[in-house]
Amino acid sequence: MKKIVILCLLIVGIPTQVFAQQKVPILVYHSIDEFQGHGIKELYVTPGNFEEQMTYLKNHGYTLLTFERWQDIKKVNKPIFITFDDGYKNNLNAFAIFQKLETKHFKPTGTIFVISDFIGRSNRLSKSDIKMMVASELISIQSHTATHPDLTKIVNYEYELKGSKEKIEKISGKPVLALAYPYGSFNEKVVTETMKYYHFGITTTPELFSEKDSKNELYLIPRIYVKYSTTVNDFAKALKAE
Ligand SMILES: [Zn+2]
Repeated sequence: MKKIVILCLLIVGIPTQVFAQQKVPILVYHSIDEFQGHGIKELYVTPGNFEEQMTYLKNHGYTLLTFERWQDIKKVNKPIFITFDDGYKNNLNAFAIFQKLETKHFKPTGTIFVISDFIGRSNRLSKSDIKMMVASELISIQSHTATHPDLTKIVNYEYELKGSKEKIEKISGKPVLALAYPYGSFNEKVVTETMKYYHFGITTTPELFSEKDSKNELYLIPRIYVKYSTTVNDFAKALKAE
């Protein structure tokens, strides 16, 4: 009897061990479009490549999460976050691919970090784009500040952090919990200000996330860039990178 109890404890103990060392990829994209010669090519991923990457996640049993479900990283199989910075209009291409790949068993979800003062500009998402995507429950809209400044060089944190959060919440009707620092730029002051209004601060430090219970770790969340030149092979490797 004792032996059985010990065996049971061992089996129950294993998953906790696995989760303790778990590394969660948080990917960052910008434009999902063909590159037409404008801007920086590496900030584009073609819709064809994006679909191939999302299909890889689908076929390999990943669970796509958004920041509302952060606690689920400990509960789901192969958690991963797909994020998009700057709120480009062409993120509608990613949304269409999510809709195409959705099945009963695979729910592709992602987070778009919009710049609140840029909403409705010609190459950016409009209020109605945002409302439509949020209603689908496939996209979460979070903040990338009001005007995309380098946050280490400003003084008007209230406008950039609180103002953008409130403006986005008014459009989406959902809580804004996460802030992506423009240019991935932050310092202690930026983290302190972010903590006043957000639960998460997102950087572009190129690592997988692993819980260390270190101070401020939820305000220093790392992300892996997916680029124009990223092949599906590179993509698969990046998800497991040390
Ligand atoms: Zn940006």
